[in-house]
Amino acid sequence: MTSHISSPTPQEPVLILGAGLMGRLLGVALARAGHAVRLLDAGTPDGSGGAARVAAAMLAPLAESAVTEPNVVAMGQYALVRWPELLRTLAAPVFFQQAGTLVLWHRQDAPEAHRFRAILGGVQQALPSLPHPQAVDAAAIAELEPALAQRFHQGLYLPEEGQLDNRELLQALNQTLAELGAEVQWQTAWTLEQAQEHQRRQGGWVLDCRGLGAQGNWNMPAGGLRGVRGEVVRLHAPDVTLQRPTRMLHPRYPIYIAPKPGHIFVIGATEIETNDLTPASVRSTLELLSAAYAVHPGFGEARILELNSQCRPTLADNLPAVREAAPRVLQINGLYRHGFMISPAVADAVLEHMHSGTQTLAQRLGLRFDTLATTATA
Ligand SMILES: Cc1cc2nc3c(=O)[nH]c(=O)nc-3n(C[C@H](O)[C@H](O)[C@H](O)COP(=O)(O)OP(=O)(O)OC[C@H]3O[C@@H](n4cnc5c(N)ncnc54)[C@H](O)[C@@H]3O)c2cc1C
Repeated sequence: MTSHISSPTPQEPVLILGAGLMGRLLGVALARAGHAVRLLDAGTPDGSGGAARVAAAMLAPLAESAVTEPNVVAMGQYALVRWPELLRTLAAPVFFQQAGTLVLWHRQDAPEAHRFRAILGGVQQALPSLPHPQAVDAAAIAELEPALAQRFHQGLYLPEEGQLDNRELLQALNQTLAELGAEVQWQTAWTLEQAQEHQRRQGGWVLDCRGLGAQGNWNMPAGGLRGVRGEVVRLHAPDVTLQRPTRMLHPRYPIYIAPKPGHIFVIGATEIETNDLTPASVRSTLELLSAAYAVHPGFGEARILELNSQCRPTLADNLPAVREAAPRVLQINGLYRHGFMISPAVADAVLEHMHSGTQTLAQRLGLRFDTLATTATA
């Protein structure tokens, strides 16, 4: 299922606005392919100002199939193969694993589980190559996650799902960009118009990867780019050991717990329709922490390292899109809650377009890719 876009020959300069997840990933791929890459970012090297820094970075196409379309699930499956290949080429190691997702529920929430299973069944029909969810009982849960033994009696194990350490990844991408000689300017906020003016003088490509920062440039009839706020707690819980992301089904307070190396846990779930970037609310924090405590009392003694809120860049249909706004100007956005899960697929599709003018991969995966030619004939 891997795609290997062939590396081209003499390369034009590329200006990338936004060095969050998508900008850094594309910057590395293009610098490696021989382009002179320049990245401008409004924030700082640690990723402040973007969604990528606070994300849980779960790579869970099957679990997410309950809330997204089959094409995003297909991009997620593709990316699960591509991530290990990409990570191997970076200048520093990045935690990555594919130990599956465990989905649990309390007895009283069985109807929610029934609903979830029905949705998974439907997606499985649309994409028969997806790994099959496995029903697990108390003994199987205890074997998968000894820390949860006796606490849950039924659940679903979703094999092959992955996760990575987002902050290690952002740092490793920075290091790799430096090694490849890419120029990165932090605390530099540009508009798309400024970039196009630059292009008129210098030539080359412009890639707009500003996430929510590109809001003014995505006004479409169906609606523009919006923020979907998420709040996450980052805990250090030495008394809790989990091997894989765990999701709790609940009609009002579903949560995920994503373990990172060193007994660090990212716990989140909230989805609020707003561009509000103010700090996490007391209500959300109480809900997240209570739900985590109900999963394992060891979280009661955990230390709260961070309480974060950020907005996921989201288009009207909640799907990602690439748009050719002008010749050699590509806008890449709408990664919503799936940036880590799908970005290798989106990056490969962008590279294919830049190097061969085709959109084969985008078409295969169902990624919306509007070129000037397709827009003119639509
Ligand atoms: C709480 C939360 C949890 C998440 N969990 C997951 C998960 O488990 N799995 C998953 O796959 N995805 C997850 N995501 C989604 C993921 O983080 C995003 O989809 C992804 O970060 C989007 O990538 P991006 O590069 O488009 O935008 P961003 O990562 O937001 O980067 C945009 C960059 O553009 C910069 N910028 C903005 N304006 C300008 C400007 N004018 N000029 C220059 N630079 C500018 C910003 O500083 C930023 O660095 C989560 C997101 C949130 C908020």
